[in-house]
Amino acid sequence: MRILVLNCGSSSAKFAVFEATTGQELANGLAQRLGSPQAILAWKHPGGVGEEPLPGAHHAAALRAVVRVLTDLGLTEGLAGIGHRVVNGGAQMTTSAIVTREIEQIISDCVAISPLHNPPNMVGIRLAQELFPGLPQVAVFDTAFHQTMPEVAWRYPVPREWDAYGVRRYGFHGTSHRFVSQEAHRRLGAEARRLVTAHLGNGCSACAILEGRSLDTTMGLTPLEGLMMGTRSGSVDPALVGFVAERSGLTAAEVIDALNKKSGLLGVSGISNDLRTVMAAASAGQGDARIAIDLFTAILAKAIAGLAVPLGGLDALVFTGGIGENAKPIRAAVIKHLGWMGLTLDANLNDGHGKAADGRITTDVPGPRALVIPTNEELMIARDTAALVLPRR
Ligand code: ADP
Repeated sequence: MRILVLNCGSSSAKFAVFEATTGQELANGLAQRLGSPQAILAWKHPGGVGEEPLPGAHHAAALRAVVRVLTDLGLTEGLAGIGHRVVNGGAQMTTSAIVTREIEQIISDCVAISPLHNPPNMVGIRLAQELFPGLPQVAVFDTAFHQTMPEVAWRYPVPREWDAYGVRRYGFHGTSHRFVSQEAHRRLGAEARRLVTAHLGNGCSACAILEGRSLDTTMGLTPLEGLMMGTRSGSVDPALVGFVAERSGLTAAEVIDALNKKSGLLGVSGISNDLRTVMAAASAGQGDARIAIDLFTAILAKAIAGLAVPLGGLDALVFTGGIGENAKPIRAAVIKHLGWMGLTLDANLNDGHGKAADGRITTDVPGPRALVIPTNEELMIARDTAALVLPRR
């Protein structure tokens, strides 16, 4: 039996096919730049790679192309279910779930809080229902893992009347935080009781995890809160919105748009949202690249230290996502900031991304350690889907 995983983002759609019982990956791919003349689908499988331009294609056309490619490869035979990444399931969804009318309603209700993310997720579900009628569809929510947060973590200190609008902290990237925390437990056992996981991609968030349960996280009502990111500012004084709007002539919505799309590494460096480009510019002594990197690491280190408070200490810090898995100088700078907590970098292990020591990049002494663990959200979605759709043995 096989599981197809679909992850529809705002202008991209990722997919992967897994063997349901072993978790072995049989194919994966990405349709990107959707809605533009450069839209393109690329895929790989053990027998090779492929690519197909899809000029002007939006999600639905791209997903039809994905299904055609997978059918040609014989990978749509024996599908047991389809797992969908869904960004926001609100406070109601605490676990992954088979898609029913009620679940569809919850995903639609959450469009108000995640207007960029939930609609493409819903397109993926609808199309999969049309192309594979009768096959179970499973929704795996980015927010679900964080629903174990206590009220002191999810409540904002704001007027209670706003509860009626759904104002609270939800947290995101839950599928990734859950995957790497399970992997840390597999590797470290009881020594991974108190974890902070740092998912650092284009979006960035960190999470405090006690014995496998999320206790607190840096993203909030929307993915704008918390760490500095590629184009997002992360946390700023909320009074800044009105202050800048008054002086610039922008509306509040336009200022918030700039905090989402023109801030972070891009806004501070003035060069790029892509850390690789910013690091190259900093090495060349270009403009404001260095301060952008220093700000990124200082904010991240402060957040990690803050997340150790609800945990009552720290056993392990996990780096993941494109930056966490690859950017050695970022990891080194963060660990340097956190030296007072007992973390000491092993420069050789960090250079090899921890591969020589089962992920570890700190020295092998008693006390907290740091690890690099590659995330695999698609595999986590496939596992959840298999658990819900395969007959229990
Ligand atoms: P997404 O959130 O879109 O999945 P990724 O997890 O792929 O993004 O992370 C993208 C980020 O990772 C970019 O800022 C990119 O520059 C950074 N990155 C990827 N590889 C490296 C590398 N070798 N060194 C530094 N940064 C890297």
